[in-house]
Amino acid sequence: MNAHPSLKIAQVGHAILQQTAQTITNLTDSTLQQLIDSLINTMMDANGVGIAAPQVFHSQRLFIVASHPNPRYPNAPMMEPIAMINPRMVSHGLEVVKDWEGCLSVPGVRGLVPRYQKITVEYCDRHGQLQHQEFTDFVARIFQHELDHLNGLVFLDRVESPQDLQKITDQSIQGH
Ligand code: ZN
Repeated sequence: MNAHPSLKIAQVGHAILQQTAQTITNLTDSTLQQLIDSLINTMMDANGVGIAAPQVFHSQRLFIVASHPNPRYPNAPMMEPIAMINPRMVSHGLEVVKDWEGCLSVPGVRGLVPRYQKITVEYCDRHGQLQHQEFTDFVARIFQHELDHLNGLVFLDRVESPQDLQKITDQSIQGH
């Protein structure tokens, strides 16, 4: 039996995806640890590369980043899922790159989204330790996509023109 069954994913248009998520104050709370495990399972079941707590109807500042090679980004690094609590972008480089993004909350569509190529971030890990890291390329893109979810935005809000949107039927394309 799965102790952390997949959670229902909020779809675009739902109010919870438009809210600013709340800062998490009790980092070692057991319900938070359970939510992290459920988020990871939900993301893996959906074959995603990231997921944010508001996507499963928890308006809290928490997301998972889990890069792995995929059809869009064959050179993406393989990483264990990392829970990032109260994450923030500390700084970013000047370079902005447009590339395709999908989202578990926006089925059937992908879009070309401009993101910073290099970012410096801070977050608390699931053990309550403050982490300070630099991310580039695909991982930086996932981080910025998930951070948007905590601020009430989806990638559609960042797409610059209708020409930058595409219908997708290939379910192997990764969302987050
Ligand atoms: Zn998303």
